[in-house]
Amino acid sequence: MSYRIAVIKGDGVGPEVIDEAKKVLDAVSYAYNFNLDYQDYLMGGAAIDRVGTPLPEETLKGALSSDAILFGAIGGEKWDTLPLEQRPEAGLLKLRKALDAFANLRPTLVYNELLEASTLKPNVIEGVDILVVRELTGGIYFGEPRGQDSHKGYNTMVYTVEEIQRVARVAFEIAMKRRKKICSVDKANVLEVSRLWREVVTQMANEYQEVELTHMYVDNAAMQLVRNPKQFDVILTGNLFGDILSDEASMISGSIGLLPSASIGSKVSLYEPIHGSAPDIARQGIANPIATIASASMMLRYSLKEESAANAIDRAIRKVLKEGYRTRDIASFGAKELCTTDGLGSIIAEYATEGK
Ligand code: NAD
Repeated sequence: MSYRIAVIKGDGVGPEVIDEAKKVLDAVSYAYNFNLDYQDYLMGGAAIDRVGTPLPEETLKGALSSDAILFGAIGGEKWDTLPLEQRPEAGLLKLRKALDAFANLRPTLVYNELLEASTLKPNVIEGVDILVVRELTGGIYFGEPRGQDSHKGYNTMVYTVEEIQRVARVAFEIAMKRRKKICSVDKANVLEVSRLWREVVTQMANEYQEVELTHMYVDNAAMQLVRNPKQFDVILTGNLFGDILSDEASMISGSIGLLPSASIGSKVSLYEPIHGSAPDIARQGIANPIATIASASMMLRYSLKEESAANAIDRAIRKVLKEGYRTRDIASFGAKELCTTDGLGSIIAEYATEGK
């Protein structure tokens, strides 16, 4: 099999971490017998500097005609004074909109070797493996009417049955491949839109008899995430609640350099680390590439259906952490050997193909 991958390196540490993800992808694609045809595209500050716009037409076209998009990060001080619509972020927002990326996947995996990196107690977080599935293109961020005048501001939380169904289906399909548990989070005690959400999700559960579905109010979910996060497998929720809960969940693991994400759409899906362009550490060879390598693994799993290769990458990440290889950001937690970005990427690539 051969797949077309649109690669958007972006700004700051983006190019450095993407290079490591490609290194690991190259290793596993060879070992697991498939071909990745990369095409580089500009976006963000790099695109503004080269062609004067944060999302060139060529990037949009290339992304839409690929099998998946692997993205680093964008942004930096240099472009902060530009008007909003010309800034690097405008490019990413426009791309996400064009992709119709309606489901955002944010896994939080706690590695035993890094238990101390969290602000929560080790016994509370040991073994945590949560996936937040957040609806991304609807809800209160986009609902009409919206507005502001001198004495009031207002927004509308609205979901249609179809919008709920399509994100719920993503969550159920993924739950089937995990521990088969979904906790749907809403505010059905107060909001009509949440009552519809609950009805539609409950209805869909009939198609997935093996999945255990529970419901939780968002205020309780926020508490339960820090009280006993191990109770969760897949959390399914709307745009606003998901925005808050996915950030809360990501901090359970305590390290921003480790966490991947995926934006699944009706067209092409986008895979990226949750961190930004980290200009403070760019071009020093010290950025942690794991979040981006784990994003590449998600790309193999969810877009290319190369499950074995994805599992090999996940195992390799666990192994390097277990053996004490660390970039600087996590060096105070059990480091036996301090690695550069490139060094850690190489070890992960080697471990991911062991025995092949
Ligand atoms: P950031 O995520 O870039 O950095 C926050 C902190 O985490 C910094 O101290 C940074 O050094 C550290 N960090 C981030 N990634 C790391 C990695 N891989 N390894 C080690 N340490 C890492 O957030 P910020 O500083 O608020 O934003 C910097 C720029 O990134 C801004 O221009 C912002 O707009 C942009 N940004 C882009 C995205 C994106 O592209 N999706 C997301 C968030 C922020």
